[in-house]
Amino acid sequence: MKNLKLKLPILLVILFIILMYSKPVYAAYPTYKNDWEWNYNGAAYYYIVNLSPKFQESAKEAASNWYKTGYHTNPLYPMTRTSTQSESPIDLYKSNLGKNTYGRTDFYVLGGTKLDFGDNNYGPLKDWLYCKILINESLFNEDFGDNPTKRKILIAHEMGHAFGLAHNTSSTNLVMYTYIELNRATKITKDDSAALVQKLKF
Ligand SMILES: [Zn+2]
Repeated sequence: MKNLKLKLPILLVILFIILMYSKPVYAAYPTYKNDWEWNYNGAAYYYIVNLSPKFQESAKEAASNWYKTGYHTNPLYPMTRTSTQSESPIDLYKSNLGKNTYGRTDFYVLGGTKLDFGDNNYGPLKDWLYCKILINESLFNEDFGDNPTKRKILIAHEMGHAFGLAHNTSSTNLVMYTYIELNRATKITKDDSAALVQKLKF
């Protein structure tokens, strides 16, 4: 009995030390390449071509949520709207994408050639210079009505692609979960944030 009484506190201390130093395990996140220098001029911009005011507001919320997720420090990444399209690597458009697609991100190289995804479902196989985020406003409004959270998540999801994040099907709670209909995210999650930090390698 004496021995057990002594061993138990020691075991608890060892367990505590193991828990302290074990690293958190995040869901696996595939990412793809871009040649966008994230510390370019110390800022990152997006440019709105023709989104409706409500979607503009959602883009602002999505950008600021990516900048400050509350989980990781992201000093190179102010992510503000610019009024100069040429300095923006992310341009947002209202676009009719048909009956099945709420949003899409297309990638371009210098000179305006659109990159093929090839067999890659998630993003371009080559480096890219700028992208267009296309938002199917009418289909969204039809199916989700005036839902600010869903609107923000849709745009945050497409911005995630622009940052180089692919889909993550491990949980419907993730912003980068594939289908907006089933997506239950209300903000950038810890896993989404961790994937971005890993991608940008601070
Ligand atoms: Zn997607």
